[in-house]
Amino acid sequence: MSKLAILGGEKVRTELFPAYRVIGKEEEDAVVKVLRSGILSKYLGCWADDFYGGPQVRALEEEWADHFGVKHAISVNSATSGLYCAAGAVGLNPEEEVIVSPYTMAASATAPLIYNAIPVFADIEEEHFCLDPDSIEERITEKTKAIIVVDIFGQPYDMERINAIAKKHNLYVIEDTAQAPGAKYKGKFAGTLGDIGVFSLNYHKHIHCGEGGMVVTNNDELAERIRLIRNHAEAVVGAKGVKNLNNMIGFNLRMTEVEAAIAREQLKKLDWLLSERQKNVAFLEEHLKELPILQIPKVREGCEHAYYVHPIFFDAGQAGVSRETYINAVKAELMPIELREAEGVSIGCGYVKPLYLQPMFQERMAYGDNGYPFCNSNVEYKKGICPVCETMHFEKLFTHELMRPFMTEEDLKDVVTAFYKVYENLGELKK
Ligand SMILES: *Cc1c(COP(=O)(O)O)cnc(C)c1O
Repeated sequence: MSKLAILGGEKVRTELFPAYRVIGKEEEDAVVKVLRSGILSKYLGCWADDFYGGPQVRALEEEWADHFGVKHAISVNSATSGLYCAAGAVGLNPEEEVIVSPYTMAASATAPLIYNAIPVFADIEEEHFCLDPDSIEERITEKTKAIIVVDIFGQPYDMERINAIAKKHNLYVIEDTAQAPGAKYKGKFAGTLGDIGVFSLNYHKHIHCGEGGMVVTNNDELAERIRLIRNHAEAVVGAKGVKNLNNMIGFNLRMTEVEAAIAREQLKKLDWLLSERQKNVAFLEEHLKELPILQIPKVREGCEHAYYVHPIFFDAGQAGVSRETYINAVKAELMPIELREAEGVSIGCGYVKPLYLQPMFQERMAYGDNGYPFCNSNVEYKKGICPVCETMHFEKLFTHELMRPFMTEEDLKDVVTAFYKVYENLGELKK
């Protein structure tokens, strides 16, 4: 039995894991074509044909809508921007409430604040980590206008139950699909399950164009409002004859022709990249499920998981050491992913800290010095409001990215070996 690396022994692995290189010749050629055309963006911020952007942007939108089987796909410069557009498009009024998840990237919870609406955190599911329908129902008040669900880690939200709740209370469902492009709920694509879906094309996501996002909807009116918010609504509504001026202060959230050209090539690679992730996860789970201190969370029935990250439960009672102790020892056996060396080994205890514990919510400070809009709301952000999320984050869950495409079976075996080596030497860690 070899000595643990964290105690001065040799590492299981001394080479970096392979980089996630998804940009190739196809993207290179597409970019060169755009550069040679001389048109790097064609948008006009006024009511004219070019209000809808140039040829690459429009082609991407058509292809994206086709791929996901949805009526409208609207490109933006990030998923964060897409969430802002969605929050504005559904007509949020100041001080209305939006139910959000605490276990996600910050923008999915802060988007309502752009319109001075109040994020209300509901708890997450124990097995799937998406918003818990029962907790949502408990948080609904007469001020509630929308729910922002997140297909967290790559798994679709509980569409049937949550959409039924939304229908009953006349609420919009905005779906943050940044982590789940290609995931499915009973054969239907994640992103198309609610009223509006938002995808990300940033560098860390399944497919990317540096920075970018896509907003999808089957609703013509919402689509048009999203396009207006994306591109200087206030300067367009007059000439276009738009009657509903709610939230018609626009931004510039436009994607360039270069990014759109890259994104078009990336979309062609999505299916393959997704199936590689699923294959690698299946390999890891096949081996790791034998370890009595780990449990693999179940995938929601009828769903296909896109595995942006791979979540695993750690059983500290069974292990006799803390999650942090075990994971730090596993990390010491392994190496970072090439091109992301600065992030260290891609395994983390929990995911992101429950969002309501961030200073903005704890200090109740968003706009200006007086805590607007929180000062006009009695919504609580105290520690303890989402106990399942806190238990998952601070005790039970860890997540990793060592299942990305380009990991070979040998690479995956090193990951498995590290988890086993530390398990077999737990006695050393207890000393
Ligand atoms: C990455 C991510 C975002 C933000 O995406 P950007 O394109 O970087 O703005 C939003 N929500 C979730 C769940 C994400 O993972």
